[in-house]
Amino acid sequence: MTRSRRQTVFAGLDQPGAWPRTPRAPRPERLERPVVELEGVGATIAKRLGGLGLRTVGDLLEHRPRRYETAADEVRIADLRADEEVVIDGEVLNVEKRPMRGRRTRVTARVSDGSAAVTAAWFNQPWLADQLKPGIHVRLRGKLGRFGFDVRSYDIGEARATADFAPVYPAAEEIAAKTVRRAVEAALPSLADVFDPLPAELRERERMPLKRDALAVVHNPVDLGEAERGRRRLAFDELLVLQIGIARRTAERDRTLAAGLGEPGELILRYRKTLPFALTPYQETAIRELDGDLARTVPMQRLLQGDVGSGKTVVALYALLRAVENGRQGALMAPTETLAEQHFLTIEGLCAELGVSCALLTSSSPKARREAPATADIVVGTHALIQEGVAFRDLAVAVVDEQHRFGVEQRTALAVGRAPHVLHMTATPIPRTLALTVYGDLAVSEIAKPPASRKPIVTSWITEDRASEAYTRLTRLLRDGRQAYVVCPLIEASETSLARAAEEEAARLRRAELSEFRVGCMHGRLKPGERRDLMARFKAGELDVLVATTVIEVGVDVANATVMIVQEADRFGLAQLHQLRGRVGRGAEQSYCLLVSRAREELTESAQGRLQALVDTTDGFELAEIDLDLRGGGALLGTRQSGLSDLHFAHIRRDRDLLEQARASAAAVPAGPLRDQVDELFAEVEPEALA
Ligand code: ADP
Ligand code: MG
Repeated sequence: MTRSRRQTVFAGLDQPGAWPRTPRAPRPERLERPVVELEGVGATIAKRLGGLGLRTVGDLLEHRPRRYETAADEVRIADLRADEEVVIDGEVLNVEKRPMRGRRTRVTARVSDGSAAVTAAWFNQPWLADQLKPGIHVRLRGKLGRFGFDVRSYDIGEARATADFAPVYPAAEEIAAKTVRRAVEAALPSLADVFDPLPAELRERERMPLKRDALAVVHNPVDLGEAERGRRRLAFDELLVLQIGIARRTAERDRTLAAGLGEPGELILRYRKTLPFALTPYQETAIRELDGDLARTVPMQRLLQGDVGSGKTVVALYALLRAVENGRQGALMAPTETLAEQHFLTIEGLCAELGVSCALLTSSSPKARREAPATADIVVGTHALIQEGVAFRDLAVAVVDEQHRFGVEQRTALAVGRAPHVLHMTATPIPRTLALTVYGDLAVSEIAKPPASRKPIVTSWITEDRASEAYTRLTRLLRDGRQAYVVCPLIEASETSLARAAEEEAARLRRAELSEFRVGCMHGRLKPGERRDLMARFKAGELDVLVATTVIEVGVDVANATVMIVQEADRFGLAQLHQLRGRVGRGAEQSYCLLVSRAREELTESAQGRLQALVDTTDGFELAEIDLDLRGGGALLGTRQSGLSDLHFAHIRRDRDLLEQARASAAAVPAGPLRDQVDELFAEVEPEALA
């Protein structure tokens, strides 16, 4: 496809017929054809596309390019200079494939253009070894780095135009970005079958192009400005669906009733006295906001957001006690058994002091499951709390911790039929703009700063070849009586193999670097009793080091644990690393987080960005914003978590104006495909049994 042949589509938007239209009516059902029916897409490629979630022609058309290559200078190999992104054009002399540590590979090819030769390197694309042959012509875009020419995009064989200007699609290990692009190109003629869900009147009023035109320029723009205008049209649709859904959810909520809980009373006074510290102003504000909600008979739907360690649990318990002092019950729902147990351990002691009964309910406690909801004042549990047959005596306040980990399903279930006041807590800081968008129907309280006595965690990023330095530092701190976590690499494997890897690593550390210390091992395969035991021993100081999988990600609270080593940290997401790091820095002592990664040359730009961001700041909100930039809004929350819409094209931060536009237009959207989409999403999240 040549890119210069036509004018920008939008230049002539106002002139009817400026963009060649097909005479026949769109047949959207044709977009359901499997990708394998496209020319040039065989069974193998179809399967790999399937791995990316691209199964139909329509999927390909809606696949968003991650970025666009902009023009780069073509230079002679002899003129290459370090760190400048350029295009080179030459012939392959020889090819080599080298296995690296883990399952990684590096393919290198010696490339010459007559002026000189350079070694070009591709990481983790082993299939290239079969495509690159001596004598073949290549056009490469990239920069000269430590290991030779670091290839960013390439054309092999014929001279095509990737290197000059083209959309770049997210690639996966199994499939090159370029193959995805070819498949998308093969799907483009089907744009004629794309039906526009926006009513013409609304579309014109908002000055939006036709959906098929928008898709056309997103995949094949003349320039970046055009691509951006196409993207905005597609983003607008997504934001509309989101806004319609939010409006509906709000309306539904306002039809149910909850118990009004009046003003705080004597139990709350005693609770405040029992706490060994004064509440921070942020905690006080959150509590005041919460009290306002609880006094009303409209069920509370509030999001309490605050960084890890900011002190949300204290506020949550306050809400639960407000129910108890009214003779009703409170429930705290956590996403994992470990976290439920942790919460229980924290709360149980305080409750005992206050004369409030508190029970733990998980799927591995069948007896508690029958009894606790009927008798206890406060019930702490996992999603077992909302399963069939769990009958609360009189549930008035429900706290849902780490709500981003729950599907909307559970969130709805807890709210439907029982109408308790619900406080959602999240420690994965969601930028405010995003919170208001995605949880438009939730009020937001924010604990913006942790208790003042905390020292910011000192974070370092070390590459594997220097990992021993990390253990030297760890040893020194352990000898000082501190405790530590060692987090094992995140390999894409089953819980069982993760557990095995953690056990092996613990055994290795006991023999080697940490032989003088007491090392425990925590993973998802332990029985709840064993896990509780292990945590209790660690908390009591009977263990120095806890080697763990990410099961320690949330909730673990041991103030003396001040060091964390994360192995192969580049494999983790930014939010996850921030969560992990939040396990240290919970007391007055200086805490440290050591991120050990693979060699820099092996890391993607985004992985480097993540690690550097963690070194630069401990502010979760700032990190969330960076994460948004690195990954986009849809990826941060995901379909299940945002509840209503997976945002592919919308960019929450950049598209605030569009968001406002969508909010204003939502009510004007008549029955039709967009509302159907909202219906479908709602059908998904409301299991019949609970409706
Ligand atoms: P979060 O749930 O937000 O991650 P926690 O509620 O677990 O944070 O609080 C982290 C630690 O800070 C806990 O050990 C808690 O006892 C302590 N903490 C909470 N509020 C205060 C406060 N106002 N002053 C001092 N310490 C506090
Ligand atoms: Mg907590």
